[in-house]
Amino acid sequence: RRKKDIKERDSFASRLKAKDESKIRKIAMPSGSGAAEAAKRLKIMETDAREHLVPKLRIESRRKYLEKRKEDKVAELEADILDDEYLFEEEILTEREKRERAHKKQLLHLAKEHEKARELERVQRYHMPLREGKIEPEPDVMDKEPPQSEQSKWESDQMSSAVFRFGARDRKAQQDYDLLMEDEIEFVQALRMPGHDKDKKREASPPAHVKTLQTIQETKKSLPIYPFRNDLIQAIKDHQVLIIEGETGSGKTTQIPQYLYESGFAEDNKIIGCTQPRRVAAMSVAARVAHEMAVKLGNEVGYAIRFEDCTSHRTRIKYMTDGTLHREFLSEPDLASYSVMIIDEAHERTLHTDILFGLVKDIARFRSDLKLLISSATLDATKFSEFFDEAPIYRIPGRRFPVDIYYTKAPEADYIDACVVSILQIHTTQPPGDILVFLTGQDEIETCQEMLQERVRRLGSKLAELLILPVYANLPSDMQTKIFQPTPAGARKVVLATNIAETSLTIDNIVYVIDPGFAKQNNFNSRTGMESLMVVPISKASANQRAGRAGRVAPGKCFRLYTAWAYQHELEDNTVPEIQRINLGNAVLTLKALGINDLVHFDFLDPPPHETLVLALEQLYALGALNHRGELTKLGRRMAEFPLDPMMAKMLLASERYRCSEEVATIAAMLSVNGAIFYRPKDKIIHADAARKNFHVPGGDHLTLLNVYNQWQQSDFSTHWCYENFIQHRSMKRARDVREQLVGLMQRVEMELVSGITETINIRKAITAGYFYHVARLSKGGHYKTAKHNQTVAIHPNSSLFQELPRWLLYHELVFTTKEFMRQVTEIESKWLLEVAPHYYKPKE
Ligand code: ADP
Ligand code: MG
Repeated sequence: RRKKDIKERDSFASRLKAKDESKIRKIAMPSGSGAAEAAKRLKIMETDAREHLVPKLRIESRRKYLEKRKEDKVAELEADILDDEYLFEEEILTEREKRERAHKKQLLHLAKEHEKARELERVQRYHMPLREGKIEPEPDVMDKEPPQSEQSKWESDQMSSAVFRFGARDRKAQQDYDLLMEDEIEFVQALRMPGHDKDKKREASPPAHVKTLQTIQETKKSLPIYPFRNDLIQAIKDHQVLIIEGETGSGKTTQIPQYLYESGFAEDNKIIGCTQPRRVAAMSVAARVAHEMAVKLGNEVGYAIRFEDCTSHRTRIKYMTDGTLHREFLSEPDLASYSVMIIDEAHERTLHTDILFGLVKDIARFRSDLKLLISSATLDATKFSEFFDEAPIYRIPGRRFPVDIYYTKAPEADYIDACVVSILQIHTTQPPGDILVFLTGQDEIETCQEMLQERVRRLGSKLAELLILPVYANLPSDMQTKIFQPTPAGARKVVLATNIAETSLTIDNIVYVIDPGFAKQNNFNSRTGMESLMVVPISKASANQRAGRAGRVAPGKCFRLYTAWAYQHELEDNTVPEIQRINLGNAVLTLKALGINDLVHFDFLDPPPHETLVLALEQLYALGALNHRGELTKLGRRMAEFPLDPMMAKMLLASERYRCSEEVATIAAMLSVNGAIFYRPKDKIIHADAARKNFHVPGGDHLTLLNVYNQWQQSDFSTHWCYENFIQHRSMKRARDVREQLVGLMQRVEMELVSGITETINIRKAITAGYFYHVARLSKGGHYKTAKHNQTVAIHPNSSLFQELPRWLLYHELVFTTKEFMRQVTEIESKWLLEVAPHYYKPKE
């Protein structure tokens, strides 16, 4: 009975909804055609309602917090029903609308019923294990060593083992603890994830909390890869292609290029290249290596990422994103300047990495002097080897300490709140060691940071010092280096990171990992042609990578904010490679520009779905980048010069014709910094929103972004102006850099730079010329439907057009939370579509 209960409530989908409910205005409605589908959705929604309207409340503070939100929710439902009745008074309700309305009423009823029931519910308290040593786990469970210490075996055994519970039994400690904590989460421990050290006696070297400052040389020598230096170099000399597999943090990324450099691979002005799936990783790793080699970043060691090239003619070791290397093929198809190319973090299987596999494999055939290293964490190595004609695999034995895995006993409705509670729980009850928390993006990290700071402030001197450090892609580099600085004695560091910290970045001294089980993922639906960024549950492979981060310097603990049941039943084994789930427009354009015409027979490690490929070709055709034979047109060639999505590249190129290229370059740059323009601190939301409204101009969000940039420019790019207007200065500076790059590229393709038109129609037409795929119109029912596929979408509440409801509009992107939201929308006229995309939109007969 209880199991079934958990099963029902612990669905990742409902937890996701619960988290987002505070952000959305209305509850999502079942959409779907068939009656069976509708019935199914209804059922899901009922579970959801129970889940987030009346979450299981255990503790006072959370009770208050959630109570407030629940009241809002009930009020919202009431308003919604009224709203609907008002809206549809005159109109004839469709069957579905009637159903929806009835359903809303039902939900409201449910909410009120549960409200009553909850009053009767007893409040329970739970505890995390207290200090080490106090609690001895049942010996028979711990003695059972996982067979052969093998990850995969451990995987399958993990769940079948007994699950036992820790409890706080020390009354005195318990009382002290009660003073601190208003709020607790119960965790249960499953099996221990084995370490890799054969020699059990060897102590953690040295344990996290007493680790003293080591010199750079000592640090380098202490890395697991170090003993294999010469052997590895020999293997590279002996084989043209080598797969290198090693535990994250063993030194692959930072050390191998240095070893190669020291062994003369950079002679004759050749470069040692190393790709990274993420910008932040490329920058941070390059900085680290420059530091280790005692050179200035940008000289011997440099990096290149989109819109930023920090290399010089002296650069011998070059880190770059996989996308950047992909583009380098355009100017240097045989990679002649490189002696070695390392495709690093290959297991991440980003779209660009996957395409690079095919490209470099091809080059290696006719450039026998080029060494190719495919480096990955302990995943997929055999698959890579098979793809590269049975290339040998070089395994670097890892060093890892055992990690205890804990699951929550009951599902947590709000995982950010649960993170904050868990951090404080660890901080107050666990021995020294830093904490790593995995969140999905900048928004969540900031929310978590604010909540945590607030709680810490309230607890005041009762707590030991807690350093809170965020890491995400848009974080400026000076902030990034902070996460690597050693934690001062007596303090504890908590790093709030996106899944960049899963394998790309290694932060030393992490002993505790908190894993809510989600990541942000770009998904493309080839049936509807819609692309959207969604928060999705991670895979088991990811969850175990995350857990492994806790055992690098000492035995660690990983707290999973989901139940063991959810791990077992709801997580996929592996993450689907990007190439099989995202829009291929940009990749196909670059491949075409490289002269690769037959994409169907391109050597893919895992081929993309056929429909996705066809859709990308169709889109490029509609944009005018390909002709009807599928060959690149002159426009397509120019589009390929820009490291942008084809739609944005088309928008830029079209701006010339509409005499507004300066303005559109600004808009493109502002869109590229992606949502990080407006600053919205929790304690000043009203001011921040008012400031944002001040920037609104008729026409929509694209023009609003232009307005923000222009005003900032008029203020002489002032920092102070940004503070006053709740604008993020860093993002603006980045937009300025991106804009400069774009203007440079526009000149390279010989575009005329024009500006100064006062009529915004031209600007909006130029945007439409690129984004006519992303058009939605207002339907009778007051909903927006996409023009081509009739999908229901909604304007994002942050948009300047949120309350305007223009008949036609275009959107920059879709974001899926509880429903598909259009972010960055602009009002357009339907007749423009015929003008800018005649072969896509045909006039009605
Ligand atoms: P791998 O690529 O095998 O996962 P890395 O080469 O990234 O391993 O990391 C090796 C070591 O270098 C780790 O101990 C990590 O902490 C350290 N390191 C990496 N980047 C930095 C940095 N920016 N600052 C300080 N230390 C770093
Ligand atoms: Mg690495």
